[in-house]
Amino acid sequence: MSTPQMERIREHLGTLRLVRTLAQLDTLLDEATRREWTYAELLDRLLIDEIGAKTERSLATRTQFAAFPFVKTLETFDFKYQPGLNEKQIRELAGCRFIENGENLVLLGPPGVGKTHLAVAIGLKAIAAGYRVLFTSATALLAALTKAHGEGRLEDKLKTFCLPQLLIIDEIGYLPIERLGANLFFQLISRRYEKGPMILTSNQSFGSWGEVFGDQVLATAILDRILHHAATVSIRGESYRLKEKLKSGLIRKRDEDQAA
Ligand code: ADP
Ligand code: MG
Repeated sequence: MSTPQMERIREHLGTLRLVRTLAQLDTLLDEATRREWTYAELLDRLLIDEIGAKTERSLATRTQFAAFPFVKTLETFDFKYQPGLNEKQIRELAGCRFIENGENLVLLGPPGVGKTHLAVAIGLKAIAAGYRVLFTSATALLAALTKAHGEGRLEDKLKTFCLPQLLIIDEIGYLPIERLGANLFFQLISRRYEKGPMILTSNQSFGSWGEVFGDQVLATAILDRILHHAATVSIRGESYRLKEKLKSGLIRKRDEDQAA
């Protein structure tokens, strides 16, 4: 349909960015006529569709912004493979109340037990709940902070990492951190302290963080702030990456290794 009135409606929908309604205007009007909708019914349907599309777009934009290394959900996490893990606790954390309360979540455990998977899965729940989330590895975070420091832009960079309502810092402890990096990390943790919830993952127990940060005093100060309001989940099971190999008997389980 193309009358001056329809053209005006289209133009106004465009100005108001009601893109969904603009895209399906003809179909919507046809359907309204065919089904003899009341004006209220048509308006109701139009608004439901528009808001649905807007929510979808916002979700997609925030998921993209979060920069997850992969998209894995809680629904695809096999809790049976990690019987030591408290499923109820993880599901409660996925309810995002810890974010609302400004608390942190620390996931500890050896490689392959699902730390990143769970961090991403909870991050996705946070996005669905309306939060802005940013995922980074500790290495990438420190590289970005160090570079910004060298270029006199540290303040801006710290702000970038303070803006997201949930910051996920993955893989603390995989690589040793230099003195400057440890200092910059401390500055970030101090900024987010008590107001910027984080999910942190590490393959190192807290007792080893002194070595990770190359400085026991600094590591204690960092841990002090992180753990003041935090839940810690330790995953002690087997690596999921080795699942198939373990099954075939190609390699032995960790506890068998330790017993041997
Ligand atoms: P980590 O970060 O602890 O090293 P990841 O989260 O990267 O481990 O897990 C390694 C791989 O195994 C990923 O592809 C992840 O999706 C998968 N994975 C780990 N644990 C589970 C699990 N319990 N159920 C389903 N997939 C899992
Ligand atoms: Mg990982």
